[in-house]
Amino acid sequence: MILYNNRLIDREEARVDIEDRGYQFGDGVYEVVSVYGGKIFRLQEHLDRFEYSANQIGITLPVSLENLSENLHKLIAHHELSDGQIYYQVTRGYAPRNHPFPENPQPVLTGYVTRKPRPVEAMKNGVAAIITDDIRWLRCDIKSLNLLGSVLAKQKAAEAGAYEAIQHRDGVVTEGSASNLFMVKDGKLHTHPLGNLILGGITRIVVLEIAKKLGIDVVESSFTLSELAEAEELFLTSTTSEIMPIVTLDGKPVRSGAPGSVTKLLQEEFEGLL
Ligand code: PMP
Repeated sequence: MILYNNRLIDREEARVDIEDRGYQFGDGVYEVVSVYGGKIFRLQEHLDRFEYSANQIGITLPVSLENLSENLHKLIAHHELSDGQIYYQVTRGYAPRNHPFPENPQPVLTGYVTRKPRPVEAMKNGVAAIITDDIRWLRCDIKSLNLLGSVLAKQKAAEAGAYEAIQHRDGVVTEGSASNLFMVKDGKLHTHPLGNLILGGITRIVVLEIAKKLGIDVVESSFTLSELAEAEELFLTSTTSEIMPIVTLDGKPVRSGAPGSVTKLLQEEFEGLL
């Protein structure tokens, strides 16, 4: 079963018109939530961001957030999902192809369960990252279906045998193709400030909360590629990658080339929240 607006239906029954604006223009927004032990992690934050993204592009959600939340839980129950993810999205729906918004849009909301295992080994050992230009648009705060910039960056990483691509604009580091980036320097956590150049990650929020609790200083201001090269520790955060140590950058080890102590401490605390 999958979620289709306010109903759960068989996947085979779901129908998307070839002129759905999500399909033709990437005209929609989405979320990915993690499920641990049958519970959705930080659901309220994901619902709020979904509504924010939709609002920012003028889509009125076809269901209330309460209804959406109820149906996400029904999906979990139906699939007896203990650990996994739910992907959900809304598009502006079907209309004869034309760039401006249609007069009476009928947004289409869909959602379904996935069961990707937690990347346990990668979180323990760390991963490789490459650096690439941030070629995305200037509203990265919207979790838009338009993901070509991210797709191309991630593909570049994949071709280099790396897990993630760290993006920069004119030498200023923004975020990963599908993750936020943190750097540890002089014992402090550094990450790009919120704004239009990055997605306000939910895992980013959780890491900032943990840092506050542990008394780790946080600097929310942008840093450059040369500062990145001097990092004591690097990690990325996302719903599916959680807190992921980066141990090589463009093939060069980050310090010792192993996950750092601050990163490991944050990972431990994060685990305690699941
Ligand atoms: N930035 C981008 C560009 C992303 O695609 C993601 C993953 N959705 C994130 C950051 C991390 O966000 P979250 O922690 O909410 O998954």
